[in-house]
Amino acid sequence: MVVSSADVVICGAGIAGLAAAAELARADIGKIVIVERGDPLALTSDKSTECYRNWWPGPDAAMVQLMNRSIDRLEQLDSANPGRIRLNRRGYLYASADQAQIPLLLESGRTATLQGAGPLRVHGDLAAATPAERAPTGSYRPAAAHNWRDQPAGADLIVDPALLREQFPFLNEQTVVALHARRCGWFSGQQFGMLLLEAARAAGAILLRGELTAIEQRGGKVSSVEVAGAEGSITIATPLLINAAGPLAGACAGLMGIELPLINELHLKAAIADPLMVVPREGPMLIWNDSITLDWDADERAALRDDPDLHWLAERMPAGAHCRPEGEGTSTQVLMLWDYHSEPAPLIIPPPLDDTFPEIVLRGMAHMLPGLRPYLERVPRAYLDGGYYTKTPENRPLIGPLPVEGAYIIGAFSGFGLMAAPAAAELLAAHILGRALPSYAAAFHPQRYADPAYAARIAAWGASGQL
Ligand SMILES: Cc1cc2nc3c(=O)[nH]c(=O)nc-3n(C[C@H](O)[C@H](O)[C@H](O)COP(=O)(O)OP(=O)(O)OC[C@H]3O[C@@H](n4cnc5c(N)ncnc54)[C@H](O)[C@@H]3O)c2cc1C
Repeated sequence: MVVSSADVVICGAGIAGLAAAAELARADIGKIVIVERGDPLALTSDKSTECYRNWWPGPDAAMVQLMNRSIDRLEQLDSANPGRIRLNRRGYLYASADQAQIPLLLESGRTATLQGAGPLRVHGDLAAATPAERAPTGSYRPAAAHNWRDQPAGADLIVDPALLREQFPFLNEQTVVALHARRCGWFSGQQFGMLLLEAARAAGAILLRGELTAIEQRGGKVSSVEVAGAEGSITIATPLLINAAGPLAGACAGLMGIELPLINELHLKAAIADPLMVVPREGPMLIWNDSITLDWDADERAALRDDPDLHWLAERMPAGAHCRPEGEGTSTQVLMLWDYHSEPAPLIIPPPLDDTFPEIVLRGMAHMLPGLRPYLERVPRAYLDGGYYTKTPENRPLIGPLPVEGAYIIGAFSGFGLMAAPAAAELLAAHILGRALPSYAAAFHPQRYADPAYAARIAAWGASGQL
């Protein structure tokens, strides 16, 4: 099919581009062309752990509000397409063996509550808890494995040792606290993406294979794009261009002379068989909240210490090793992640993988789940993949107009793109169509860095809570 004009061109068929296409198709915006240099969803979006959470205690309520809206929309999608995206609400369980984490988790729970994540319930004897926060004995509700309806929101902060052992017997026995954030879980990101693509196509959107190589402007406005495909280059006249290029968003903006404050970080994920079923098949996402030193025997530790490339493996490693069960029925797969190298990385496609990752992440997880230790004798077969977290300085997305008329962006989706996509696409459409903007729009506006006060404010913000 020869395409010479479009009402809107979307650069990228990852989750951001497909969500934008479905949203604009629903709004009857006209002819939509999605340009994709590879396969849809195949660069970053199919590498996701497919998890979601409204647990974003932070400097203001914007991320909680964005994610609450997204989760509302995911729930609507799940209801409208039973069995398709398999949305669950098992929660995220943050656990720690460090007493010092208790006041920190209490504080983050209070912040999240104030920001709209739901109420905090404290189980056990914690003097710092207010009477309203103290939950009656026996009131902790384990999560349902598959049903997100009628589940608690907010979080349960558990310091009662007996309750910890009863509910989570698989945790390191030194565990003193666990925070179970409840409006969290996972879903099929691939099916979610396909539903978006189907909706966009049903409304007439076209998926065009090729690389968007140039964006022309006339009178300071987007006027056309060049797409290099298997059969040569074509020009598509268009007044609207949406940059949904994922880790290539900076390059796409560069085609208009726009510089974006983005970096890419490489994140890996290992799928490891767990035939001993150490990770509960119907359990929540499990996150170890403490920094750790990996267990090595004395010889291994000495050898690592002497190795200039590997000495870091014998040193203190960051908090945040996490895993969740994957698959239903007889599946024994567990997805394991640990962001122990979080510096900006050069963008290489396909992303380079590190064969040592499965063993390292397994060692990290064995700290939280000692039942995994037998696997360290002979690391089970692992499937390894990974992709880039594309991040702004304060780890918030870019959603809205760029400084060339007709150009927009939906991106910088970091480690939250699947969960953010439904609300992000709705917000993008509101910008494009001149609809009323939600309260969180300004927090994600691409032009926010132009305000020096904002730049100064974010410099003081702490950890992003990014997994
Ligand atoms: C290991 C890992 C775990 C993650 N876990 C989660 C999770 O649990 N929950 C969650 O919500 N998120 C998670 N994420 C993050 C999530 O996967 C990303 O935020 C999201 O996929 C980004 O989507 P995107 O559409 O912006 O980018 P992409 O999926 O990379 O899509 C961009 C597309 O644009 C195309 N493109 C770029 N430039 C051009 C061009 N010039 N011409 C044509 N096509 C172009 C690319 O080929 C690509 O297909 C995880 C990410 C990783 C790596």
